[in-house]
Amino acid sequence: MTADQQRTQQEAGAGQVAPPPEPPRHQHHRRPRPEGQQRQHQGQQQGADLSIVIPLYNEEESLRELHRELRMTLGGMNLRHEILFIDDGSTDRSFQVLRDIRGRDRRVRIIRFRRNYGKSAALSVGFEKAQGAVVVTMDADLQDDPAEIPALRRRILEGYDLVSGWKKVRRDPLSKTVPSRFFNFVTRVMTGIPLHDFNCGLKAYRRDVIKTIHVYGELHRYIPVLAHWEGFRVGELVVRHRSRRFGKTKFGMARFWKGFLDLLTALFTTRYVRRPLHLFGFWGMVAFVIGLVIDAWLVVEWYLGRTALGNRPLFLLGILLMIVGIQFISIGLLGELITRGQQSREQYVIRDYIR
Ligand code: UDP
Ligand code: MG
Repeated sequence: MTADQQRTQQEAGAGQVAPPPEPPRHQHHRRPRPEGQQRQHQGQQQGADLSIVIPLYNEEESLRELHRELRMTLGGMNLRHEILFIDDGSTDRSFQVLRDIRGRDRRVRIIRFRRNYGKSAALSVGFEKAQGAVVVTMDADLQDDPAEIPALRRRILEGYDLVSGWKKVRRDPLSKTVPSRFFNFVTRVMTGIPLHDFNCGLKAYRRDVIKTIHVYGELHRYIPVLAHWEGFRVGELVVRHRSRRFGKTKFGMARFWKGFLDLLTALFTTRYVRRPLHLFGFWGMVAFVIGLVIDAWLVVEWYLGRTALGNRPLFLLGILLMIVGIQFISIGLLGELITRGQQSREQYVIRDYIR
């Protein structure tokens, strides 16, 4: 995103009507930059055609082979490219191996975390640093095949904003594939996005997508959901999957319950974050009305002398529903107040601006 676009977004968010100030065009009025800085600046503006972003945690045995395969694929593509490795606080020799690879290939860039922050954090920083027009993410454990990169990129050029790999034939133990099917099914139903495999490490993005979505916690599982709700066009492509040759999986059983909590976060932050009253208010109203109808009916019965309220437990349920309903509506209103305070910071994502 250029500085100009960024400014435009901020202005849209603040709801100002004044046209954005002209960006400084007359570079030659300024003090000329030293040679080195200028080159770097130009490099950042031009970026690359393709960035490969690879988060890794303790994958020392796989890295050389991965780099060799990447070289083979990328060598045939004839594009300006960069390979970003994000070492997520590895405690093995991964970083030394990477530095060695970088010594032989200047298109490799390495980011190293001080400790293990998780795959989402690694992706998030990779997205921030990536300069390519198209960005491809993949796992470092050789389970994803670099040979799929050209096909993924082609789909982006065809018009998709995000193309997610689909491990149709999955080389993983049953303990992973069965829950994963269930998990993909629930996500598909809850979000209405027709993907088979939400959490494939191999994905391609148009640059806009990665500069827009905000991946944190363990939200990397829901990147297609985040992108979809920002209005990006999400597609999928069947990719080859291989079994893990070295090391072991970095996600234990905790992945399942964490995964579902994150689905709630993904839904809430994408669909309702700007209108909490629509979620809480709706269910609050439903509860309140049901409670009201139950109790009104019981009061009429009592008035006509047909029942004594003391021996109708339903009466308590009615009261409970009304109280819960009012609480929900209040929470929704509080949510609205909080988001109101943040309106000025809100970002509307502008796709084009034709002047
Ligand atoms: N990974 C990471 N940080 C973590 C855990 C994993 O960067 O805290 C990387 C890992 O090195 C691999 C990718 O994320 O490159 C996917 O991890 P893994 O293969 O263990 O997941 P699985 O294939 O079992 O779902
Ligand atoms: Mg893996």
